Amino acid sequence: MNSLDLQILGQTAKRYFHNRREKRRTGLYPLDMLILYVTMRCNAKCDHCFCWEDLNIGIPEMSLEQIESLAGSVPPMRTLILTGGEPTLRADLPEVFSAFARHGKAETIMVNTNGLKPDLIESLARRMKSEHPGTGLDFQISIDGLEETHDRIRGVPGNFRKAISSLQRVFELAREFPALSAHVLTVITELNHRELVALNDHLREHVGPQIIHGFELVRDVETSAWGIPEEIREKGVGPKAMNMPPVEEFDRIAEDLKTIQRRSTPRVSSFHIHNLAQLEMVRTQREQYPCVTAGQAVGVIYSNGDVAHCEFTLPFANLGKFDFDFEKLWHSPAANERRGQIRSCFCTHGCFHGKAVEYSLKGLREMARASLPGLRSAK
Ligand code: SF4
Ligand code: SF4
Repeated sequence: MNSLDLQILGQTAKRYFHNRREKRRTGLYPLDMLILYVTMRCNAKCDHCFCWEDLNIGIPEMSLEQIESLAGSVPPMRTLILTGGEPTLRADLPEVFSAFARHGKAETIMVNTNGLKPDLIESLARRMKSEHPGTGLDFQISIDGLEETHDRIRGVPGNFRKAISSLQRVFELAREFPALSAHVLTVITELNHRELVALNDHLREHVGPQIIHGFELVRDVETSAWGIPEEIREKGVGPKAMNMPPVEEFDRIAEDLKTIQRRSTPRVSSFHIHNLAQLEMVRTQREQYPCVTAGQAVGVIYSNGDVAHCEFTLPFANLGKFDFDFEKLWHSPAANERRGQIRSCFCTHGCFHGKAVEYSLKGLREMARASLPGLRSAK
């Protein structure tokens, strides 16, 4: 195990004990990550998009003033995710970033993008980093397969080359701005599951061997979640036209993921353990890591100010009723009531299940084991 892996394991273990103490003290795990939809506009047409029914239909967006109030009222957290839709379509994205950076509320602000606009991404990165060099800025760029597969899934010719160019430009700029980074997320589907290693080879060759390449199994509330009470289940969440790979392929997919993880730096990754566990969850329909994160360590804010504990359950309140004061809303009777309703469900959703790995001793053990060459890796 190298020193970076050791450092990550040590920090994760330290957080685990800290979070447990806080949970005992306050009754809730402290907020670690917020998913903020800044727009529901998008310039792609991905077959696996799980929110496609809400795209480009005029769902309102919070104003900058409202986002300022929100930024002032959220507790400090590790990661704020600016997502959508395509967040770079929001012309005031630098100001949104700035609102949270100025208040010092997130160690890292992640922008989830399809990478369709390399020039814009480069100029956004330059501006955001010049104004707030101390706040981490990480672009998560979606790439779902080699060129033909990716462009077919995304419904946009030329998307692959543009996404690679966006990655390369952020990597180049990161030499100038140390707190700037980019990584790739690939959604595993029936169409791309045989290309995972080939895609990783391509990224290592054309972007750099240090590329961080994450994965997520295509999600659908119908096939990726179990036990959500019917009255709070978000029914419309699921892809337009894309299935999971066949279960018979899961063992081979797990081996491919392990191959990629073994060649990655760092090797230690809760998300990798989550990937293996989510395959197991779909195969057995049994919970792997209890969801202690939704409504505690992780929350979701939609572009119109609606707030949910996760994306598979319905929003329980709107920030507008709380003067855009997040803390007031997060500790309201409505939020507590909903927490009581989500005690017995489980799902593969990476933002919640991936994080839940870090909240379990079994998860910490599996992270350590998967990072040690020669030891039996996690199942
Ligand atoms: S997955 Fe992202 S980029 Fe693709 S259509 Fe949905 S919101 Fe747009
Ligand atoms: S994220 Fe958690 S609360 Fe939401 S559906 Fe999945 S298991 Fe249930």
